[in-house]
Amino acid sequence: MTFENIGHFDVVVVGAGPGGLCTAIEAAAGGAKVLLVDKQREIGGMLHIANGEFSGGGTRRQAAHGIADTPEDHFAEVMRLSHGRADERLAWQSVRAQGETVDWLESHGFEFDPATPGLVHGHEVYSVPRTYWGVEHGRSVIAVLRRLLGERVAEGSVTVRFGVRIEGALVEDGRVAGVSGTGPDGGAMTARGDAVVLATGGYDADLGLRNRFLPPGCEDALIACLDHATGDGLVLAEELGADTSGDGHFIPVMGLIPDPGRPGFAVDYREAFVEVALAYRIPHEIWVNRDGARFVAEDTTSPEHRERALLRQPGIEMHIIWDRAIAAAAEPLIRNGAGDWTRERMRDEHARGRWIVVADSLEELAGKLGVDPSGLAETVRRYNEAVAGGHDPDHGRTALPMPISEAPYYGLTSIAASLLSRDGLRADGDLAVLDRKGVPIAGLYAVGEVLGNNVFAGDNYVGGMSVTPAMTLGRELGRALAARREGAHG
Ligand SMILES: Cc1cc2nc3c(=O)[nH]c(=O)nc-3n(C[C@H](O)[C@H](O)[C@H](O)COP(=O)(O)OP(=O)(O)OC[C@H]3O[C@@H](n4cnc5c(N)ncnc54)[C@H](O)[C@@H]3O)c2cc1C
Repeated sequence: MTFENIGHFDVVVVGAGPGGLCTAIEAAAGGAKVLLVDKQREIGGMLHIANGEFSGGGTRRQAAHGIADTPEDHFAEVMRLSHGRADERLAWQSVRAQGETVDWLESHGFEFDPATPGLVHGHEVYSVPRTYWGVEHGRSVIAVLRRLLGERVAEGSVTVRFGVRIEGALVEDGRVAGVSGTGPDGGAMTARGDAVVLATGGYDADLGLRNRFLPPGCEDALIACLDHATGDGLVLAEELGADTSGDGHFIPVMGLIPDPGRPGFAVDYREAFVEVALAYRIPHEIWVNRDGARFVAEDTTSPEHRERALLRQPGIEMHIIWDRAIAAAAEPLIRNGAGDWTRERMRDEHARGRWIVVADSLEELAGKLGVDPSGLAETVRRYNEAVAGGHDPDHGRTALPMPISEAPYYGLTSIAASLLSRDGLRADGDLAVLDRKGVPIAGLYAVGEVLGNNVFAGDNYVGGMSVTPAMTLGRELGRALAARREGAHG
């Protein structure tokens, strides 16, 4: 078996997602010699699939659009939306500089979607437009970071190694002095570093680890992230005595479709998901649980309200029900980032039968979906009565466009999904990883989703509060490590 020692660096960054990329770029800009490794064959991490929505208050772009905002106002909203459960210290550390991160991306040619800054309705909405995204979603962020990284690689300050999976740390004299792992050819490798930064992302693609952190009853949540999120950095740090949070918060993402070819996983978000937000599509369907009962107003404007309602349903699953007339009249129920789901494509999908169940009667549909048939029949009867009367006494839904009464009937099952890790490593204001006594593990740092999203969003989703803290604190950490390295001036 081969063995390679990559060398000695000021900073070794593990993971080339937004957190690791920004750390590496800024550390190198500050004069540090940096090694950036990733077990994948390309940079970008979860940005390949993410909407890549980022947020910041007091930006140049907001000013240009006449929007008054400040980091303080943004922070107040982060605390409101997170029900006061975000970590005030680290969340503020990020939010206070997020506007600067937005300006930085802009100054490096980020291709903003013209609709930004905008309000995003997939999660609880900010009161002012302070969310930004690119014309190619997360890939627009990758484009800028790739360019900036390329400049540092060209000048020789960053060495990049792909296909290297880090599995352990080198510890000398009580401090982390490097990493060890497996290279692309399966051989062992090590790299030494004065500082090691874990930017390995979350753990949601590892069922055992994810369910260790999820509250009981949520084990059936679909995995909706990319496969690299196996919690490697968290496991590595725990082996060194690191402390982790264990808040037990979970709020699902709705609208993900179970992948029949990959039990437990969702159909790739880039291919298809169900649009559940009223702001983007008027619901013509009803949502029922296994008992055939509706459980929320399908047109609620509060994502959190419907997400928490879904969490209370058996198997955290819901079945979306519609009929022939709705299929002909409604906007496509299924969407994706490319926006290429048309009514015709929906019709093809009905016929293909991968995810959508078709039946000649409601009873048959219930049987195929595993829903109680008499419950469904009664629910549809009451819903049709509500449509006729223009009033939904059960859930107060006001969008009541048409009854569900014409065969064939259609059904699609959606299960609550997890796509980012809520818990993670505990770290101090320097992003040094803390041990179980609250003492920094010398030489070891963490940034990005490996810290857990609860730190920045409490028990909710807060717009942009995963990608933006990864980039913002990554930049700050990179600068600080460069300034602190031996022989640094100023
Ligand atoms: C569908 C979807 C949509 C999303 N949309 C948004 C959004 O709009 N806004 C937002 O704020 N957040 C969003 N997120 C979350 C966001 O994408 C992530 O939280 C963010 O990318 C985390 O950045 P990171 O750098 O910490 O980790 P990642 O982006 O996950 O990158 C981690 C990198 O580390 C590498 N790695 C892991 N283990 C090892 C190892 N052992 N050795 C070497 N390399 C390793 C991985 O290969 C990967 O490249 C979304 C997530 C998903 C799944």
